[in-house]
Amino acid sequence: MDNDQGGVRFHCGSLSLACSVVARSDSSKNSASDSSKKVAKAARAGSTPSASAGRDRRSLGFPMSMAAVIVLGTALVAFAWDARDVGALSPTFQDHWHIPVGIYNCTTESFLDDLADPGLDPVGIHTHGDGVIHVHPFSSAATGRDAQLELFLDATRTEIINDERMTFSDQPALEEGVQCDGEDAILQVARFAPGETTPSEVITEDLNDFRFSQDQEGVVIALAPLGADIPPPPQASVDAAAESSPNVLQTDSTGQGFDEDGNLLDADGNIVLDEDGNPALNINDLQLDDSDTDADPDADADPDPDADAVEGAE
Ligand SMILES: [Zn+2]
Ligand SMILES: [Zn+2]
Repeated sequence: MDNDQGGVRFHCGSLSLACSVVARSDSSKNSASDSSKKVAKAARAGSTPSASAGRDRRSLGFPMSMAAVIVLGTALVAFAWDARDVGALSPTFQDHWHIPVGIYNCTTESFLDDLADPGLDPVGIHTHGDGVIHVHPFSSAATGRDAQLELFLDATRTEIINDERMTFSDQPALEEGVQCDGEDAILQVARFAPGETTPSEVITEDLNDFRFSQDQEGVVIALAPLGADIPPPPQASVDAAAESSPNVLQTDSTGQGFDEDGNLLDADGNIVLDEDGNPALNINDLQLDDSDTDADPDADADPDPDADAVEGAE
């Protein structure tokens, strides 16, 4: 009981809502006992059956207000935890993940060609036609819980409709209604932990909402029977993803840096250019925002700022 009260008092300090609700539950307890006194008085006067009802109400008053306090306290803790969590949930603006991806068709037992990138990504989840999903959010629409498969599909002009049909801009749809090994094939999405060849998770519903969770994890969109073995992404995709995240799998410097004007250089010492042929990144344009880095302990722990800048150009 002391602990519960302490917890509630703690939240009173930061949220006046809690105080007012707790105060209200106290007063309702008082009015409950007031009314039970009246009932008891009436019982003494007339000795009616309602006297026992009054006793029940009085005995329930205290446990019920304590239950209210516990429920409220739990809700507040959950609320505070959630609010804290959202601010730091990866991927953040500081992250740049490379996720090998494959689209597998069980009827041909092969992967489709890597999706092309028309360069229309407005939020920071796309591919460079390299079999890799590049996740480097530059809009909050692509951070945290919103870093979902649908954004990658948007960027590649593909679509998953009703969890049963994947459409492409330049080839026939991948669609349920076929069989593999005598079983109905369904559309599903498998997640592979970095370096693993068996999935850690396979979903068959809400495929668009599949959320990217870490750098180097593998993702395979598969048309295959339920429970069938889904192969990991093609090795070329895995390799391309690994090469794109040098700070994850390579600890030595690969020679990248900046020239005297601050332009990002590649391993050969050439200026890294963007799609328009302009320097892709200038160190003088980078702004360090303390409030942002505080929200992301991973970013603070990054030992190699150059590697960050290099992956920023991928
Ligand atoms: Zn990239
Ligand atoms: Zn990119």
